[in-house]
Amino acid sequence: MKRQRIVAGNWKMYNNFDEGRALTISIIQKLKPSDILTVLCPPYIHLNYASMLSSGIANLKVGAQNCHSENSGAYTGEIAAPMLKSVGAEFVILGHSERREYFNETDAFLAKKVDAALAAGLRPIFCCGEKLDAREAGQQAEVVENQLNAGLFHLSEDHFSQVVIAYEPVWAIGTGKTATPQQAQEMHAFIRDLIAKKYNPERANLTTILYGGSCKPDNAKELFSQPDVDGGLIGGASLKAADFVAIVNSFPDTE
Ligand code: PGA
Repeated sequence: MKRQRIVAGNWKMYNNFDEGRALTISIIQKLKPSDILTVLCPPYIHLNYASMLSSGIANLKVGAQNCHSENSGAYTGEIAAPMLKSVGAEFVILGHSERREYFNETDAFLAKKVDAALAAGLRPIFCCGEKLDAREAGQQAEVVENQLNAGLFHLSEDHFSQVVIAYEPVWAIGTGKTATPQQAQEMHAFIRDLIAKKYNPERANLTTILYGGSCKPDNAKELFSQPDVDGGLIGGASLKAADFVAIVNSFPDTE
């Protein structure tokens, strides 16, 4: 069995209803059938129609950018995993550095969100990655290991098999500073090794690990040709259909 390659678009807090609908339709028009799974992660207002428009397209799925750890309750402004599932989401991004930084999401809270997502039948796209000061101090491996230990490695292998990991060095997000393909490969191989030690080599081999951080059409090819880079989590470049689809088509065998 080969591991699944995925390109996910994290729209962040961009696009009103009409803009998002136009972008979704444009992506669908450009997307070719392939074994690369494309996942659109727009703001909540777009999930319902995006999943309806993508139903019947085998290589296109929809995901959310966050969920709460509880299934319901008095949590004004929050959204629950079963609600996302009910409008057709199949994935949910958890632990994005912007959520960790601006919304004070801790590793312990993220572990509960991961559990809630899995219980609702959503596949978490779990983000990890070091900040610039940690990279400069050579502590990137330690930071990522701690994030995975605290947020993910409590899972049974069965549950873990549903998880996609996104390595996103914080210093590369939205900055135009991409990790070099070698830096990405080194961290992806390190993460895969951690999975092998925690679970087993076969599980490690089957886990999809995405790179995120200023991934663009002009650097995706080199990143995606690294042996342990299984695709990307794309921010800025996912807001333009042509750029996003060009990234989806950037694997060595899909050009
Ligand atoms: P970027 O964002 O591609 O704009 O750097 C990536 C992300 O935050 O997921």
